[in-house]
Amino acid sequence: MSRYFLLILVVVGFNKVIVGQSVKRVYFKDSIHSLERVKPKKITTKSCISIDPPSDAIVLFNGTNLDAWEGDFRLDNNHIVVQKGGLTSKEKFRDIQLHLEWKINDTLIANGQKGVNSGVFLMNLYEIQILESHLNETYADGQAGAIYGQFPPLVNASLPQGQWNSYDIIFKAPVYIKGTLIEKASATVLHNGIVVQNNQEFEGPTKYKEVTSYPNEHPEKGPIFLQYHGDPIEYRNIWVRKLDGNP
Ligand code: MG
Repeated sequence: MSRYFLLILVVVGFNKVIVGQSVKRVYFKDSIHSLERVKPKKITTKSCISIDPPSDAIVLFNGTNLDAWEGDFRLDNNHIVVQKGGLTSKEKFRDIQLHLEWKINDTLIANGQKGVNSGVFLMNLYEIQILESHLNETYADGQAGAIYGQFPPLVNASLPQGQWNSYDIIFKAPVYIKGTLIEKASATVLHNGIVVQNNQEFEGPTKYKEVTSYPNEHPEKGPIFLQYHGDPIEYRNIWVRKLDGNP
């Protein structure tokens, strides 16, 4: 066998190993919200990544105008402060790129899931958790950047309480054909510019302490919902780009 043929075999074999490493993350049905679950590694990031809306974005909040939303809110220093009931976008979406920035005011007292909790729901059904997670301990699938109750973030990219954080979310709605689920919903999430969910499929709509699954009937579109969990979490610079269909 020539040296070159051996080299080709090695290269092909190596590629197979790389492909084989792309494995699915496990949905730990028996340990939803378990404090025993391994916590993501804490990494250091310097600041939130603030991105101005591009020309094709639908601006949902730019500091002055809340016409795009329904629900209870307070405007404070050109920031939204979410109030009882949360905020629901008037427009409904499917596949989107979403940018938003959020802050846990440093006067709030963190106690696990209490005191510092919000969340952004895609299609009003799929929550990416928002929580003080720089120092505050909670279950891994309930910290910032988690697909709540399903998948912890890959790393903990949270900034200290009182600082702005950014989320950039690329969300794909589930695909149903004639009432049959063909493709699960999925999301890629960047927290302060760091990938914390990598094209991760949702096992179903967000549930609390419950194994989820996809319903037989699913809406075509849904609004973006900013959760009120009893805590006045702040938001700014929210914009969305539709990713449905062909250019
Ligand atoms: Mg929440």
